[in-house]
Amino acid sequence: MPTITNWVEELQQSYPTKWWKNGEIRLFWEPDIEIYGVDLVIDEINKLCTTISVNFNIIPLDRHKSSILQSVVHDEQIDCKRLFNLVQLDPSRNENIGGYEHGNIFITSRKLLNDPVSLGRASYFHGCMVLCLYDRSQYYYNLLRRLARHQMTHLLGLPFHCDQFLVDGYNKYELCNMHYALPSGETCPKCIDFLRQFWQKYKV
Ligand SMILES: [Zn+2]
Ligand SMILES: [Zn+2]
Repeated sequence: MPTITNWVEELQQSYPTKWWKNGEIRLFWEPDIEIYGVDLVIDEINKLCTTISVNFNIIPLDRHKSSILQSVVHDEQIDCKRLFNLVQLDPSRNENIGGYEHGNIFITSRKLLNDPVSLGRASYFHGCMVLCLYDRSQYYYNLLRRLARHQMTHLLGLPFHCDQFLVDGYNKYELCNMHYALPSGETCPKCIDFLRQFWQKYKV
């Protein structure tokens, strides 16, 4: 199993985008997502960022339809792989042509393409996260907070679930938020320390 140290070193050598360098994440949501849930997501993200001492400004882009998101809808589902690739190449991020590096979050009530189960996905490499709040899950506010925290942890660089990596000196935490089934709203010390160590290296 990977350790914190070898993963951080691997990331340092291979990350393809500096979406995080300006401390800005732009958040789009589709018209059928209610603002109350959007605010909960932002609040939970801010809590996590405070815990690990990183500073991101989440910019809600109310009613701005994201043309990127619309362009990856197939059969009413989100083609996540295509979304992440398009976001990474988005000219609005490219500072060589007048853009501004930033991360992206999308909130939709659609499912992921070919994945009828997952409620979201996030990639540090692409600086992108999507929450798929289908079947009225936007109204299950506890679940929504857990999901936002979980995906934000992935976005911030932890690619694993809690039971997928071992670190000396840490116990197993069955109730960590970073298990696939979202058993808790709390993130265990091992996963939090991973993020802290990771971001200390980058000094955001
Ligand atoms: Zn954990
Ligand atoms: Zn996950």
